[in-house]
Amino acid sequence: MEKVNIVRVMLHEMSWAEAKGYFARSDMAIVPVGSNEQHGPQNPLGTDHLIAKAISEETAKRTGVLCLQVIPYGVSSHHKQFWGTIYISNKTFKNYVEEACLSLGYYGIRKIIIVNGHGGNRCALIDMSRELREKGIFVSVFQWWEAVSKILPSFFTPEEEGHAAAEETSLNLALYPQIVNMDKAVDEEPRKHAIEVEGLKLPLDTVDETSSGVFGKSTTASAEKGKRVLEAVINELVKHVNTLKKTRIEDLMQKPRV
Ligand SMILES: [Zn+2]
Repeated sequence: MEKVNIVRVMLHEMSWAEAKGYFARSDMAIVPVGSNEQHGPQNPLGTDHLIAKAISEETAKRTGVLCLQVIPYGVSSHHKQFWGTIYISNKTFKNYVEEACLSLGYYGIRKIIIVNGHGGNRCALIDMSRELREKGIFVSVFQWWEAVSKILPSFFTPEEEGHAAAEETSLNLALYPQIVNMDKAVDEEPRKHAIEVEGLKLPLDTVDETSSGVFGKSTTASAEKGKRVLEAVINELVKHVNTLKKTRIEDLMQKPRV
């Protein structure tokens, strides 16, 4: 049989010898993280981690940068009244992702891109990236909806941009149409809590605001829009990976006091 030379990018598909070869030539890795939480009656519970996984794996293929398996569970206790939500505390999630990053650091990885699919993970990840910078590892946190926030309004109205609404559902339709059930899609305007006013940050759960788990309009989702947004997201992430490749680790570390 003809020997085909395949360049692998997924760590779990490499042998230790292949991993050794990668770590000898690169100091970069991509770590996708997400959640397993309700996304309305039409979307799979895995929406946030499945999107982060797809974006990361495609970027790894295009750039040759190592990619870890997606970390699927995140900070989601606010969705727990909906069945099947797996919720991890901020502290445990932060420590778990940090220790995965430190394992990479042991092999010489100094630049890590966390591809986060779930807004609830954000605080823990920012906290973690500050701690890791002190330890000599630079972590950037990429969130797809922020990376393309300028173009999203040309595809979706504000009511279509909420949790489990048309925006997220469209990405799912583009990536995983077999596990989206559009017959079950609903539109629901979130309820305002009695004490809610502008400028307050309240520790509310999803059930305080919606009955279906959808924040806004989901019935208008389309695979076509999802594909166009995904391509824009992957382009942004590839750009960031290539910029980091060219940046010396010394220029990313904390500066000494002057
Ligand atoms: Zn989501």
